[in-house]
Amino acid sequence: MLSFFSKPLIRGGVHAEDHKSLTAELPIVSNFPLPKNLYIPLQQHVGKPAEPVIKVGERVLKGQLLAYSQGMISAPVHAPSSGIIQDVNDYPAPHPSALPIRTIVLETDGLDQWIETQTIEDPFQLTPEDISLRVGAAGIVGLGGATFPTAVKLNMGRENQIETLIINGSECEPYLSCDDRLMQERAMQIIDGVRLMLHGMTNSPEGHLTGKSGIKTGNAVVAIEDNKPLAYKAMQSAAVLYPQIKIIQIPTRYPMGWDRQLIRYVTGKEVPVGCRSSEIGVTIHNVGTAYAVHKAIRHGQPLLNRVVTIAGGAVERPMNVEVPFGTLISELFEFCGVRNDQIARIIMGGPMMGDSLPHTGLPTVKATSGILALTHNELKNAAEQPCIRCASCITVCPAGLRPLDMANNIRINQLDVAVDLGLKDCISCGCCSYICPSNIPLVQYFKYASGEVMARQQAEHKSEQTKRLIDARNARMDRIARQQQDEEQARLAAKAERERLKAEQEALL
Ligand code: SF4
Ligand code: SF4
Repeated sequence: MLSFFSKPLIRGGVHAEDHKSLTAELPIVSNFPLPKNLYIPLQQHVGKPAEPVIKVGERVLKGQLLAYSQGMISAPVHAPSSGIIQDVNDYPAPHPSALPIRTIVLETDGLDQWIETQTIEDPFQLTPEDISLRVGAAGIVGLGGATFPTAVKLNMGRENQIETLIINGSECEPYLSCDDRLMQERAMQIIDGVRLMLHGMTNSPEGHLTGKSGIKTGNAVVAIEDNKPLAYKAMQSAAVLYPQIKIIQIPTRYPMGWDRQLIRYVTGKEVPVGCRSSEIGVTIHNVGTAYAVHKAIRHGQPLLNRVVTIAGGAVERPMNVEVPFGTLISELFEFCGVRNDQIARIIMGGPMMGDSLPHTGLPTVKATSGILALTHNELKNAAEQPCIRCASCITVCPAGLRPLDMANNIRINQLDVAVDLGLKDCISCGCCSYICPSNIPLVQYFKYASGEVMARQQAEHKSEQTKRLIDARNARMDRIARQQQDEEQARLAAKAERERLKAEQEALL
């Protein structure tokens, strides 16, 4: 029995200005012109990069496998359109550093010619294991930004007896409205994807024989912030025949979409520190992921594109647009009439948790929910002032941390103390920076310190590894030296014995 009726609980958070209406009220644009070249990174997911199976010069079809997943946590990559492979090399990644990442360059031929795909009339006849396999082969990862392979989560669902599947339709980041539009326009397909996910987590034999999803895995709850009434209505209508799927409205408050916040609100359960939500019988997927599952299972289509919100003060025609992965941001900006001279910051994702990008020559990937072109007026530009110890940052922190104390220790390079104060539990949501009346860029301190702590740990790990290698080499050299010494002693002893015998023989003669 779900407890969201009895004890909802929200910790911290802020009411950020949402800036969503400009794009949330317009239909998804599906006629984005196919780019001449697509730059498809091999790592668009958590885990190991995919390994290419194609060669430069080869012609590929839309949906064809370009690179296979490596290991348990990884995802394959497919051709977003048909064309010729031009290069497999290092190209700038859509990351604040824009450091190069292994990328496949596909020159499209304009035909957009599909591989042969398989449509399945009744996918509930498939076994849950088969659902996972097909979802994995389609390269589906969490489209809410986490990019964790979806098939792995479905498998964990079967292993952990999931009681509640939460579908995250909160989309709490300002400016973003791609999930909102998806729910408004493709609610039936999303609900189908949710049913397929429930089926994929079913571990009773009746589940796949009768097609009744969620027999053992329980229910699904689609949680939508109450600033999206049209999406809520559309999803309610689409789910009307499926009592195991509940559509609920949740308060509009950033960061409601954070997994732990949403789980606490919807189920009343707290995910213990260091545990996965599946360990307490809950798993979360994004609405876009459910839509991708529908396309993969019903129509055999791998994940090749997504809806991306293009917004911000420098954008003349803000919109939600469906784009193939590998499209350069510069081409999207041209399509949306972005005024380049007005851009103060380019952000991938939302303004609170998104990444600032150094330029527009970077590709869209599976995690790209939005690209913002913000003007100076939209940024918090006021000068930093001394802390007035108002404690607002503590009040809004959804992770229950003391941001001012952590920042003070980071300032004096006491990173260990910051870690003790919970630095590793910081989700970089930016609520503390947003609320701070002294304009202290708290979250920047935490991002810097987290990177520094990780770098130190990696350096320590590396020096430990180096020390282990040196010790092993020294031990090997000692062993060889001892062996050589023993052999030399044996040789000398044999020589002495030979000389003694020779001397004895000569004495007898
Ligand atoms: S919100 Fe800003 S001014 Fe207030 S206590 Fe925190 S750091 Fe200091
Ligand atoms: S950025 Fe970190 S410290 Fe600041 S409110 Fe979010 S979780 Fe708390």
